[in-house]
Amino acid sequence: MKIVFPFLLAFLLVLHLTGKSQTRDTNQSEETKTYQIPEGMIQKIEKSDAEWRNELGEDQYKILRQCSTEPPFTGKYYKHKGEGVYVCAGCGQELFDSKTKYESGSGWPSFFAAVDKTKITEIVDKTYGMQRTEIKCSKCDGHLGHVFSDGPAPTGLRYCVNSGAIDFVEKKK
Ligand SMILES: [Zn+2]
Repeated sequence: MKIVFPFLLAFLLVLHLTGKSQTRDTNQSEETKTYQIPEGMIQKIEKSDAEWRNELGEDQYKILRQCSTEPPFTGKYYKHKGEGVYVCAGCGQELFDSKTKYESGSGWPSFFAAVDKTKITEIVDKTYGMQRTEIKCSKCDGHLGHVFSDGPAPTGLRYCVNSGAIDFVEKKK
């Protein structure tokens, strides 16, 4: 009995946590997420699903609002070069400077740093037994892609972003 009890307790705990995440996140099945919302003075943008659907293009909507991923080597920015800044396609918040863009070979636009840490919300995504870190725009909560720790110096980070989640704004000369 002494051995069984801790297992029973653990089982009940798992049951409790699973139940909780399902009621909180009804449309995102089997996902465990830990939210790390950065500190800052970001004014959040909140819109209804219908509003986003109206405003965004079909691909943008699927990526930003439904966490879809565009196929690699198909997006408009993976090979893109130019001096400027990449902004969120949902709300226009500046996310990545072209100086931090590099060729990762992944087929998605890749950056080794964000313009500012407060512009990106990182969420630990434990779906399908993997641990990945999802990145979202901190202003409108639009899904951007994921960040990995196999990037180049000086950060060692690789922000892997969907082209459909960003727009390029060229630097004025
Ligand atoms: Zn945004």
